[in-house]
Amino acid sequence: MEPRVTEDNLRMQGCAVVTGGARGIGRAVCESLASAGCNVAVNHSSAGSAQIAADFARSLEERFGVSARAFEADVSSFEAAASLLEDAACALGPVRVLVNNAGITKDGLMMRMKEEDFDRVIAVNLKGTYNCCRAALPGMVKARQGRIVNMSSVVGVFGNAGQANYAASKAGIIGLTKSLAREVASRNVTVNAVAPGFIDTDMTRAMSEKAREAALSRIASKRLGRPEDVANAVAFLASDAAGYITGQVIGVDGGISL
Ligand code: NAD
Repeated sequence: MEPRVTEDNLRMQGCAVVTGGARGIGRAVCESLASAGCNVAVNHSSAGSAQIAADFARSLEERFGVSARAFEADVSSFEAAASLLEDAACALGPVRVLVNNAGITKDGLMMRMKEEDFDRVIAVNLKGTYNCCRAALPGMVKARQGRIVNMSSVVGVFGNAGQANYAASKAGIIGLTKSLAREVASRNVTVNAVAPGFIDTDMTRAMSEKAREAALSRIASKRLGRPEDVANAVAFLASDAAGYITGQVIGVDGGISL
């Protein structure tokens, strides 16, 4: 007899939490995970995006037959991140997958970079990743089951003029990923990072035409990446098939790093 898909047995499978999941790469990650049968907690950061996130969560349920909910939280707050992970587990079951995707840029040459712009980028990108990992880990370690995927960037590997704050945050994510991977590998919790190149989202649409063209000229594939290109790598790292891969940084960059 076919197993019945009910709220209860979906809940028992647990869920994936995707930070900054309502748009761009995060949105594509939510879709990839939901299409693989994962319940999804879609995190968004402000009351202004609540309706979009709620509508998106409902569309995941309708299209993929999973459970999905939207949760507002600023991941740079330790308390808000803890509540996010707790609320997601209450609503959707134990958190089995955490995708730390939320990220911001506040670009400028170092000579003119304001202290608040440095601090905020580190707070959201790097500290936010720590906050969510910290909140998710006890449950994953106890269950001897977990997948963490952190969103780094090619900029974290190679650096980029005008992005010292962003590069520092994304390089920090790589160090955090490798260290944490060593700590929890024996508990069947994997921790990996994805390093996208230039992906066509609101973040890169904010670049000048000149900067976009310069980026394009360095990409071996001669096109910007799509959010789905990154989401496919994340979904693989979150899957059972990737159980022996940990502490790695997977470039999804069309060959820009060659
Ligand atoms: P985006 O701006 O479209 O999405 C970023 C998401 O993060 C948004 O949903 C935003 O609401 C959310 N967010 C921002 N601050 C938050 C906070 N304090 N708490 C919770 N959520 C918050 O950008 P994107 O291109 O989809 O980027 C997603 C991730 O991929 C980021 O970490 C980014 O640094 C990384 N990345 C993007 C590219 C690219 O070319 N687009 C390249 C490399 C890495």
